Amino acid sequence: MSSVVPKVAVIGCGISGAVCASTLAKNGVAVTAFDLGRGPGGRMSQRRETTKEGIELFFDHGAPYFTVTNTGVLDVIREWESRGLVAEWKEKFGTFDCISKSFIDSGEELSSRKYVGIPGMNSICRALCDEPGIESKFGTGVAKMEWAVDQNSWSLISLDGKFLGDFSGLVATDKILASPGFTYVTGHPPPLDMNLAPQMASRLEEVPFRSYFVLMLAFHEPLRSIPVKGLSFINSAILSCAFCDSSKPGRASASECWVLHSTEEYAKKVIADAGRTKASDITLARVSEDLLQEFQRTGLCTSQPYFMKAHRWGSAFPTISIAREDKCLWDVNKRLIVCGDFCVSPNVEGAIRSGLAAASKFMEMCSCTPCL
Ligand SMILES: Cc1cc2nc3c(=O)[nH]c(=O)nc-3n(C[C@H](O)[C@H](O)[C@H](O)COP(=O)(O)OP(=O)(O)OC[C@H]3O[C@@H](n4cnc5c(N)ncnc54)[C@H](O)[C@@H]3O)c2cc1C
Repeated sequence: MSSVVPKVAVIGCGISGAVCASTLAKNGVAVTAFDLGRGPGGRMSQRRETTKEGIELFFDHGAPYFTVTNTGVLDVIREWESRGLVAEWKEKFGTFDCISKSFIDSGEELSSRKYVGIPGMNSICRALCDEPGIESKFGTGVAKMEWAVDQNSWSLISLDGKFLGDFSGLVATDKILASPGFTYVTGHPPPLDMNLAPQMASRLEEVPFRSYFVLMLAFHEPLRSIPVKGLSFINSAILSCAFCDSSKPGRASASECWVLHSTEEYAKKVIADAGRTKASDITLARVSEDLLQEFQRTGLCTSQPYFMKAHRWGSAFPTISIAREDKCLWDVNKRLIVCGDFCVSPNVEGAIRSGLAAASKFMEMCSCTPCL
């Protein structure tokens, strides 16, 4: 690598971006990490809600937990465990049949270890983005990534038109950053003009995502009729799973907090009726009622929650993986890398693998061509 410290912008502080930023910083790269969101985490976010009575509630409303099979990723998880960022969620899980209204034996309890961030799913990303060598800028959406040929560098412009800096390399971690034809809810076109990297464009063109709704619920008393803390539902058109967030390690909640996840079919139907634009309050109220009533129809939930709020994940899971072998896409000449779960597999493990691969590819690029 050149003796001059390379300066890289990582766009997106979900787990792929956070892992990539942390790995680059440990290798002496000066990283600036940007995220549109108020904090890091992306689809591993934790939602904080304060009720009218002033009760503070926390919900992992994206990924409820993750599993790991890859040995390289397991090493990373062990290091995070030793830092207290991750712990195993050792509660019982089960599968509930909504027709027979009974738990069935699906081998769920025997499946692999379930890991959660401590004290929230987003804590891992937050800790990684706080590491030395990383400057994190949250609440900063990148609207434009411009390649200056004469300077051999990238210039970034924010959604509110501010200049964010010049960088010798760029790591884009969200598919929408480079989706040909995509228009942000803000009305902006995708920040990365794919004419700059035509070899990537065709692979990024068709990455459909599945949408889901989740419902966050808080109860004053524990739901004692549920013998497990995580459930998958079968034979429900509305509910796919439910998780008791307050049973996770490291959560300090006086209330019992649950997150219900809709089925894909239900989300499709609601979105077809309501449109793909941001879900309105009316739509979210309808979703809240539908999911809660279905949960109550199971007979497992007999109490009324004192808090409930629905959230729509318009792009929850990519349906294809576009770089299973390489784990990220890149352009050596422009030191541009695209990574994220859509490159490897639609889960936290896939996103971690992609973030690690992106960092390693960038280091490799710098050893071939000096990165100023
Ligand atoms: C409801 C739900 C349930 C899930 N369940 C599981 C599960 O059980 N197990 C599992 O392993 N995985 C699960 N997942 C999937 C998992 O959360 C994702 O695979 C993983 O978090 C993806 O990480 P990522 O870094 O690739 O993308 P993301 O987390 O989406 O990160 C991309 C980031 O880029 C930011 N960004 C986008 N545009 C801009 C811009 N213009 N400027 C700046 N920043 C920008 C976004 O704000 C976001 O933070 C679930 C996801 C959801 C939504």
